Amino acid sequence: FPVDRIRNFCIIAHIDHGKSTLADRLLEMTGAIAKTEKNKQVLDKLQVERERGITVKAQTASLFYNHEGQQYLLNLIDTPGHVDFSYEVSRSISACQGVLLIVDANQGIQAQTVANFYLAFEAQLTIIPVINKIDLKNADPERVESQIEKVFDIPREECIRISAKLGTNVDKVLQAVVNRIPPPQASTEDPFKALVFDSNFDHYRGVVANIAVFGGRVKKGDKIVSAHLGKAYEVNELGLLRPDEHPTQKLFAGQVGYIIAGMKDVKEAQIGDTLYLQEQPVEALPGFKPAKAMVFAGMYPMDQSEYTGLRSAIERLTLNDSSVTVQRDSSLALGAGWRLGFLGLLHMEVFNQRLEQEYNASVIVTAPTVPYKAVLSSAKLIKEHGSGEITIVNPAQFPDRSVVSEYLEPMVLGTILTPDVYTGKIMTLCLNRRAVQKNMVYIDDQRVMMKYLFPLNEIVVDFYDLLKSLSSGYASFDYENAGYQAADLIKMDILLNGRPVEELTTVVHRERAYSTGKAMCERLKDSIPRQMFEIAIQAAIGSKVISKYTTDYGGDITRKMKLLKKQAEGKKKMRRIGNVEVPKDAFISVLKRK
Ligand code: GDP
Ligand code: MG
Repeated sequence: FPVDRIRNFCIIAHIDHGKSTLADRLLEMTGAIAKTEKNKQVLDKLQVERERGITVKAQTASLFYNHEGQQYLLNLIDTPGHVDFSYEVSRSISACQGVLLIVDANQGIQAQTVANFYLAFEAQLTIIPVINKIDLKNADPERVESQIEKVFDIPREECIRISAKLGTNVDKVLQAVVNRIPPPQASTEDPFKALVFDSNFDHYRGVVANIAVFGGRVKKGDKIVSAHLGKAYEVNELGLLRPDEHPTQKLFAGQVGYIIAGMKDVKEAQIGDTLYLQEQPVEALPGFKPAKAMVFAGMYPMDQSEYTGLRSAIERLTLNDSSVTVQRDSSLALGAGWRLGFLGLLHMEVFNQRLEQEYNASVIVTAPTVPYKAVLSSAKLIKEHGSGEITIVNPAQFPDRSVVSEYLEPMVLGTILTPDVYTGKIMTLCLNRRAVQKNMVYIDDQRVMMKYLFPLNEIVVDFYDLLKSLSSGYASFDYENAGYQAADLIKMDILLNGRPVEELTTVVHRERAYSTGKAMCERLKDSIPRQMFEIAIQAAIGSKVISKYTTDYGGDITRKMKLLKKQAEGKKKMRRIGNVEVPKDAFISVLKRK
């Protein structure tokens, strides 16, 4: 296929602005899929994606499109919209020359629109602004065009107004892809060189790597090498994704497709890796920054007898999601388990949901925490760790002040877009989260864009939910990492009947310790069901108790019987800590502020 008739592009947008719907229309109009109701959101393959209506994994589809008597090959890469998955967005972008930037005609520019725009802009891709949902009664494309001019400095004439749902003007989008996006700079004469931009593990065939061919050609039987590990493989199968796999004889420069070459582990086909022919070594492509886990939580089986089952479920799921980090961990109350690192809280929830749905596993997830750092002052400890600075992903292992000269916490730069009537409330919320305002501008006569520097810890659990509820759903939020800052942190324990519950230990800022401790005790009191005896719930810093509550007990005998029955039913969802039954979701709910 001639390279000058290839276009590689992806669709980026804020969540729900219509990426997947537009992708479906493009697939239909180019004949890749049949036009039926059943084919809604074809690229959203995972059950969790269909249920939550979000895209988690980027998917790829090659489309054939006839334009002015010529056939074009359009490679479309669908991307997730949520912050936690922006890693997926950047890898999609690196295989493309252009993007369709979708903006909802009613909602206008939102936080992820801004974040995604900058990813594409920094990669110097052609950006085609597409205003979607013009069929909506409240659609205001004029206003959205003004926002696009103001925020992105793109002339309004470049915007295409469409309805992905009805198919209106979708043909104009295809024309713009052909006319505005340049073909990939690649020559079939060069030695074979391909970028691995995604990889999946298939139980029967091993690793299926999605590749963008930057030069040359590759065919079945070729011996290829992965630059990262230097290991050689024989190509068993390759082809195009339409969006299902269509095996072909060869893949050429400029094409995007899949390759299977006997790799047993996704770590052998690392995202960002370069593949080349064994007899024609080339210099590796720049690759990606590896995704950094920013939220850590313990995961334990409901019952230790389920340990092996859960281990293999976690192994299999991480085979398909190399951004999750896994370490073995154990706790007195919950037994043997793991400490997993995720890109964000939604990422963690989605992982958990997939464990339960796809592997039928029942898991206890402990309170999420961020990676703190401590600068050690004790020579003995420095020697022990081989470094003066350690990263702490488990609050139970937070080192004592006496051996530390400074604690550091991870910071993020957050972007909030909101109708201006909510700015007061949002500013108060941000202040309560120790955030510092960096910037505030109007993007039109009623909407404001604000930038804040936040401690990650303050937004990880419930910030987004609160922001949504105090703005009646209108404010949007996105963030990027912004390094580490010194902070006055302390470890706080929660005690049940005098016994510290390691799984509920948290790290808090000193000035927030009292209020956080009080709130955690209150919520724990509410989430522990009545038991046969009184339970004392305490928050403590070192040996100093800062908050204390007592639950009532069951009372008279008939009530006790009822209680016992109810608890037997709920047993499956409970976990015994000492002599107290704790619901498995209590670990996370105690951290959520109302
Ligand atoms: P994504 O999160 O960006 O992939 O968004 P989806 O494609 O899943 O769309 C989100 C919601 O918007 C779905 O309920 C779609 O049916 C709806 N939607 C998408 N495009 C249009 C459109 O052009 N008009 C209207 N009225 N609704 C649309
Ligand atoms: Mg989607």
